[in-house]
This record gives sequence, C-alpha cells and structure tokens, in this order.
Amino acid sequence: MSSTQRSLIQRDRASLWHPYAPASGDLPLWEVEAADGVRLRLRDDDGGRHQVLDAMSSWWSVIHGYRNPFLDAAAKRQIDAFSHVMFGGLTHGPAVELAERLVSMAPSAEGRPRLERVFLADSGSISVEVALKLAVQFQTAAGRPKRQRFLSLRGGYHGDTFAAMGVCDPVDGMHSAFPGLLAANVFAPRPPAAATATAEDIGQWRAEVEVLAARHSDELAAIIAEPVLQGAGGMFAYPAECVRILREIADRHGLLLILDEIATGFGRTGELFAASHAGVVPDIMCVGKALTGGYLTLAAMLCTREVAGTVSRGAAGALLHGPTFMGNPLACAVANASLGILDGGAWRADVARVGAALEAGLAPARELDAVADVRTIGAVGVIELHCPNEGDPNEGDAVDVAAVTRAAVAHGVWVRPFRNLVYAMPPYISTAAEAGAMAAGMVAAVAEVHGVARSAATLAAGVRP
Ligand SMILES: *Cc1c(COP(=O)(O)O)cnc(C)c1O
Repeated sequence: MSSTQRSLIQRDRASLWHPYAPASGDLPLWEVEAADGVRLRLRDDDGGRHQVLDAMSSWWSVIHGYRNPFLDAAAKRQIDAFSHVMFGGLTHGPAVELAERLVSMAPSAEGRPRLERVFLADSGSISVEVALKLAVQFQTAAGRPKRQRFLSLRGGYHGDTFAAMGVCDPVDGMHSAFPGLLAANVFAPRPPAAATATAEDIGQWRAEVEVLAARHSDELAAIIAEPVLQGAGGMFAYPAECVRILREIADRHGLLLILDEIATGFGRTGELFAASHAGVVPDIMCVGKALTGGYLTLAAMLCTREVAGTVSRGAAGALLHGPTFMGNPLACAVANASLGILDGGAWRADVARVGAALEAGLAPARELDAVADVRTIGAVGVIELHCPNEGDPNEGDAVDVAAVTRAAVAHGVWVRPFRNLVYAMPPYISTAAEAGAMAAGMVAAVAEVHGVARSAATLAAGVRP
C-alpha cells in the first residue's frame, strides 16, 4: 500500500515509538490536524473529527495557548535572523536576555545568596543531570569528594535519563527495570499531604528526614525535591513548611538544596515558583516545560555565585556538560517572549480563575464511589481514583487510560490520565467556562468508565466508601 492510501495513524503505528508505550500499535491514537488557543482538532482512526479543549497544555507546557501571536512573532523574527549557532565560544542576544530574565525572576530572600548563574539545557531531564553533576563537582571542589549521593523524596519525579531516574521514586520509578545501573541514593519518606497534614505529622516527617541526612551526611552531595507539588509522581501537594525543613536540613549538613521547578515553575501553583510558597531559595533550581510556552524544547539550571565559583575553581576547572544545541537561539527567543507575557502579571489572575473553575467543576466527582480524592492547587485539578490494590500503586493502573481518554474526547476534552489519576493543567488563557468544561468532561468520563454516583440514601447517611 502506498503512503497516500494509508492513514497517518496507520503509518505512525508502523514506524514510531510513543512515550512509555510498547512498539505494538494497539493503544488509541489521534492525529492533530490543527491547534489554536486552548483547542485541538483531532482526527481518529476512522477519520472522525473531534474538537477538544486541551486540559493537558501538552504536558504542562503550553501555558499561553497554541498559535499565540506574540510567541509566533518571536519565533519568526528569530528564524529570519538565525535559528541556531553553537554556544561554545559564541553567544547571542536571545541567550543573554533569557539568562537575565531568569535571574531577575528567580525566587530570592533577604540574606540568602541569589540564583545568579544560568546553564541552558535542552530538556528538563538534562537540566536535572546538570544539577546533579554540579552538586557533586561542588562537593569535590570544596574538598568533600566522598559526597556523591543524593537525598530525594519518595513519590518524586525528576526525568528519564539515568541520573534523573536514580532520584525518582524508587518504587514507582524505573529502578526495577535497570537494577545495577541506577545510583543507590537515599530516599526520605513522602511528606504528609497538604490537605490533611497536622503539625505533628510534619514534625514526625522532619525527624525522619533529619535522621537520614545525619546518618548519610558524609556521602550526600545534595537534597533534591519538587517543591510543594510532586507532579508525575502522583500530583501530590504537600505543605510549604516541608520545603523550609529541607532547606534547614541541607544547611545543617552542608548539603546543597536542588529544587526541581520543571513542572511547578512559571506560575502553575499560584506563585511564580513553588519555592516562594515557602519563602525558600535553593542553591540550584531547574526549570523547563513551560519555559518556551510549549513551543520548543528548552530547560535551564540556575545556581548561586558560590556554587558556580567553587566548581569553576575546582580541579576540573569547568562544569562538565555542553550539549550540541545548548542555548538554541530560536528556543531562547520564544522563551523570552513567553517570560515577557508572564512579566505582564496577568498570569496570577489567570491561574486563580482557572483553579477556581476546576475546583467547582471537579467537585461532583466526589460523589463517585471510584473516587478517593479530588484536589486543586493553583491551576492544577486532580481526580484521584481508588487503587485496585490500595497502598500499592504499582499494581497496574487504576484508571482505564484508553477508555477514559476516549470518553473524555467524546465529551470534548483532551486528558492523559496516569496510574490512578485523571488531572487537568489547562493553559492559563482558558476562560472560566473553558476550564469548567474541561472539568465537566473529566467528571463525565470518569463516571462513564469507572462507575455510578453514590445513591442519595448513602450520601444522606454520610457513608463513605
Ligand atoms: C517533566 C519533568 C522533568 C523532565 O523533563 P523533560 O523535559 O521531560 O526531560 C523533570 N522534573 C519534573 C518535575 C518534571 O515534571
């Protein structure tokens, strides 16, 4: 059959991999024919067309919507100048402007060294690799060469490359697939949930982390964590106080604090950076995902002058990393446009509006027996289902991903559930009505696939499943 006779989806199934997917092409797949604002036009296997609201922001990145005129113009301007030049020995306006913008918007606090030095990386995972390398090089240069491990939180997610996988949750992450290849890091318990944590829970958690840090301080280079919201590890919100505790423990034991803001950065949780909920400034910070408004792949690692200076004076004399496409001008130019929009400040009201619409729209999901929890933080809305095997989220997906995705598309919403979670991270430009429609579509899809509403009698009796 010639390629013109086969559908795009059939041709895809014959030759491509998709994320975390088998090569066999039996998972549902849609072709994107067009994307504009908060909407995607999809074509299914049978040629049927669906207009859907994108509740995923293309994996949390498209915060200003598709075909944003300001970002489009920035990209076109830079293409007409030059799209790429190497960054070894050369520099250019877009990279310098981006570094200055990131430094000026990074979290800061009285009496704490600022994040002043920027390493541009080509993806979030790579920025995490660079952060981990930097921490080890820092400790070596500071005369502590045995400090080569990391203290990480259970439930964390930091990317898919080897060092990044090594600091992801040891159970849910990919550790079991690569025994012997992932570094043996130290894992602290997941902090208590934000919604229910008591001072006692937080104190207990602090004591456990403190014991681990003290026991392993001779071999630890840094603590790494996603501040306030663990994303791909479970869309799990925890108290800002716990980020302050990590800062204190890091300081007490001579560890660097690496905050991974790749998912939380640029306003998603209601602060420009989630670290600011805690008033914490890390020694190293990673950003990515929404950095270019979802146009091009780009990430960055920021660190303090002290860390950068110590590594640069060390025996290696340099930070040992330098990707081919480092500082890609096109990506930097679009990132500058995206950060320029954020500078305008409307994101704060946008995130509040989207969050409120999600909260109201998702509330009815609480009436479903299959639902364990419904929560929102910033412009993130989560429906959490009961796990088939409660307490062991590895026992298969609680969500029928294919069925819920199909049902949501039928209701005009694009979602990509994982494990026991159906969640939304809409573009900031979503109106209250659009965010509400996303929530309604999610609730309808979960109800159709995962069960019926509790009976009025059960509700009246206050019986919980
Ligand atoms: C997505 C993500 C990463 C990895 O970023 P990629 O660009 O996919 O490599 C790392 N950390 C966090 C918190 C993320 O959400």
